Amino acid sequence: MNPLINADLHCHSTVSDGTLEPEALAARAKANGVELWSLTDHDELGGQARAMAAAHAVGLPYLTGVEVSVTFAGTTVHIVGLGMDPENADLKDGLRTTRGGREQRAREMADGLAQVGIKGAFEGALRYVGNPDLISRSHFARHLVDSGVCKDVPEVFRKYLTEGKPGFVPHRWAALGEAVRWITGAGGVAVIAHPGRYKFTPTEEYALFTEFCQHGGRGVEVVTGAHSQAEYATYADFCREFGLAA
Ligand code: MN
Repeated sequence: MNPLINADLHCHSTVSDGTLEPEALAARAKANGVELWSLTDHDELGGQARAMAAAHAVGLPYLTGVEVSVTFAGTTVHIVGLGMDPENADLKDGLRTTRGGREQRAREMADGLAQVGIKGAFEGALRYVGNPDLISRSHFARHLVDSGVCKDVPEVFRKYLTEGKPGFVPHRWAALGEAVRWITGAGGVAVIAHPGRYKFTPTEEYALFTEFCQHGGRGVEVVTGAHSQAEYATYADFCREFGLAA
């Protein structure tokens, strides 16, 4: 028996900032040969029942999932939770608090954009998500592309949404330990998402992995579209060094 399986344990649906409904994602995963799937919407469990039902309907094994935003060393870091009970009260409360910060941040982003002549960005971005608790930079980016302000999403981030640019507003998320506790307390496994994306110094990165392990974190996302081939090797080595699952 081949011990390796095709697993996709990091996906976003329209419940957060993805473009496909949970059912469409399940069908796409199945069609692409995925053998174990998880929907990991940002700070939101609202798609879990739909994703699980759709996966099971096509015979696709499913793990519950979520991706929690935390602040570590002044940077937003994502912690994926897998296999947790989506009805756990502490997890739900923690995610609700995390989401509550999004609308305020989005309004401040829109104020910054208005100051450089881009009016109505909050309302524009909201059209892509519906729920202000889930609004994110991705929704602003889509709005600014579709309304012709920028030619593509990278241009939006470069000109408007990154540090020092008019629409950038830093966000203070939960602490690393809190997010890991919410996930593990709900019976799940906490995973550092796409570590190559954070641009930490080696010291900060070492601190992230060390503290993550101390809090009970168990895994690292090694193979992801956000990583280069060289980073696959780098983070596989981190997994061996820290005793984490890859
Ligand atoms: Mn992420």
